[in-house]
Amino acid sequence: MNVRTPPSQKVYTMPTHDHRGCVDRALRVAEQLCAQREVRLTPIRRKVLELIWESHRAVKAYDLLDKIKPFEQAAKPATVYRALEFLMEQSLIHRVESLNAFIGCNCSERRHEQLLLICEHCGNVEERPGAEVMAAVASEVEQAGFILHRKAIEIHGLCAHCAQDAADA
Ligand SMILES: [Zn+2]
Ligand SMILES: [Zn+2]
Ligand SMILES: [Zn+2]
Repeated sequence: MNVRTPPSQKVYTMPTHDHRGCVDRALRVAEQLCAQREVRLTPIRRKVLELIWESHRAVKAYDLLDKIKPFEQAAKPATVYRALEFLMEQSLIHRVESLNAFIGCNCSERRHEQLLLICEHCGNVEERPGAEVMAAVASEVEQAGFILHRKAIEIHGLCAHCAQDAADA
């Protein structure tokens, strides 16, 4: 029998969590950061951020366009893309490359690298700090004489909750 390590308390995507709290915190932090950085969190940018935070699943740009229409009938794909670019630039969201979709970021540092755990069952994406992993990757890259522009690690699998469900079934 393999004994699974219980998930760390810091796993924030577990179904039992208070997601309304996540959304409220994310919007509050975004407002504070934008004020500090003297950039504008316009209503459309705020709405796109709020829609991305509807869940911890990654959202595709065209789904965002559908979701934003009831609030902003004149919204065009370019409106959504511009808002996404702003939010990415401010590190309030991240693009999940392997899914070509977006998730909200819950850390408040301006530029940071992402270690993303992507559940292939429920679709939740958990962002981990991963500083040591990233440092190891950077050193490996440097040894290859490779000039690094950007790095993100995306790991696909089963989240703690779905893995538990699979074990119980
Ligand atoms: Zn949440
Ligand atoms: Zn982040
Ligand atoms: Zn899952």
